[in-house]
Amino acid sequence: MAMMITDECIDCGACLPVCPNDAVNEGLATDIPVYWIEVERCTECVGAHDEPQCLEVCPVDCIVPNPDYQETQAELLEKYEKLH
Ligand code: SF4
Ligand code: SF4
Repeated sequence: MAMMITDECIDCGACLPVCPNDAVNEGLATDIPVYWIEVERCTECVGAHDEPQCLEVCPVDCIVPNPDYQETQAELLEKYEKLH
């Protein structure tokens, strides 16, 4: 399952550098940075870390499992291996 960033995000940017898969993206909505997670690259950190690193650093706990992208541990590991 990929993770997703909810509307509670305060756009602090802390999750961007910690992702092992470069799955966190930054864009601009007018002048405000907005962050989102690319589902094709998010492995919930499977393959790299025991816990989702974005979630560990998020000050407002606004990163949750994306219900539209459910994957098994094996599928997440395969995804990680394809990315690296
Ligand atoms: S769970 Fe891991 S792989 Fe997915 S976006 Fe967060 S840091 Fe990146
Ligand atoms: S760490 Fe949390 S609050 Fe900060 S940009 Fe990422 S999702 Fe938003």
